[in-house]
Amino acid sequence: MKFITIDKKDWAKGIEKSRKTYQLFGPVKDENGFLIKSLEHDILPDMDYYDSVMSAKSILFPQTEKMLCATLDESKKDHHIMKKAEIDYSPRAVVGIRPYDAKAIMLVNLNFDTDEYRDPYWCDAYEATTFVGLGINKPGPFDFSTSTGTGPFGEEGLDVLLADLDDKYLAKVLTNKGEVFMNACEFKTQADEKESQALFDILRKEAEKNIASHIDTAKLKEKTILELHEAPFWDDIAFSCINCGTCTYVCPTCWCFDIQDEVKQKDSVRLRIWDTCMSSLFTRHATGHNPRETKVQRVRQRFMHKLKYFLDKYDQGIMCVGCGRCVKSCPVNIDIREVCTTMNSYEKQD
Ligand code: SF4
Ligand code: SF4
Repeated sequence: MKFITIDKKDWAKGIEKSRKTYQLFGPVKDENGFLIKSLEHDILPDMDYYDSVMSAKSILFPQTEKMLCATLDESKKDHHIMKKAEIDYSPRAVVGIRPYDAKAIMLVNLNFDTDEYRDPYWCDAYEATTFVGLGINKPGPFDFSTSTGTGPFGEEGLDVLLADLDDKYLAKVLTNKGEVFMNACEFKTQADEKESQALFDILRKEAEKNIASHIDTAKLKEKTILELHEAPFWDDIAFSCINCGTCTYVCPTCWCFDIQDEVKQKDSVRLRIWDTCMSSLFTRHATGHNPRETKVQRVRQRFMHKLKYFLDKYDQGIMCVGCGRCVKSCPVNIDIREVCTTMNSYEKQD
């Protein structure tokens, strides 16, 4: 494994050099907090952030994305023929992504890149992207990522993992993509492998000690879907929910979308737009029938999908990376950690 030392004095210059090859994305602060945004012109990733309001999911799966376009101008030979929208898939790098958000992208991959179906929009964007992670030295109170197989220095889904050592970064280069990015930045000062790994281990252990929040998922697998689906606790969990959808929009592992056609003068476009299973419109059929008409059905669906259906289907753990965004953002304090405890400890009474 290759380790590289980057003096923070050289950081900005190196990132600037990478712009010759990469479109850059990273944490930027605005009036709403930190967001992972395009780093246009000379904006640098703000690496002093704690966490971002939204994850890096939108770099691969934009909130609104053009899928297909067509002209309605009948004087044109190809009128009314839908064509794939032109999307720029030149190399891009997300610098400063948190380890749990990189792991979330791997979980979403399970849905968008399968043996039967490959979502070209997600997959092409994924292939074009290099993920440069930043370990979390001091995890916050909502972080429960050690319970979801990630942790503050998790490597899954990353091409490079950076550790912040005050005056420098220590970079662990995890993949070829990561190596190419480091070369583009001209970050080349190699560090001793054994010492560097030992330092990463110390930082990881120290950071993990700060995570006070944990969930237990061990018994979820052994329960049947029907048992959990028909459990009596869903009314209580759903009682205060206002179906605002915030928990799904901030979640790095939620992938629901709607498809809409829009026409402006002679241009037609088919859009993919984030949607939420918490909205009653999401499942309403054209006939008017709605299989998830009530709030309790929708709340149950969200938690069953994350904590049971996904687990059973993919056998890759739960569909949650423990970022804590939904816990922090829910206006009525519905907490996935508590729901998980309730589901995990539930025993059906005969
Ligand atoms: S954020 Fe809270 S209130 Fe809003 S839909 Fe999610 S659980 Fe319900
Ligand atoms: S369910 Fe909540 S804690 Fe889990 S990944 Fe989504 S936003 Fe983060």
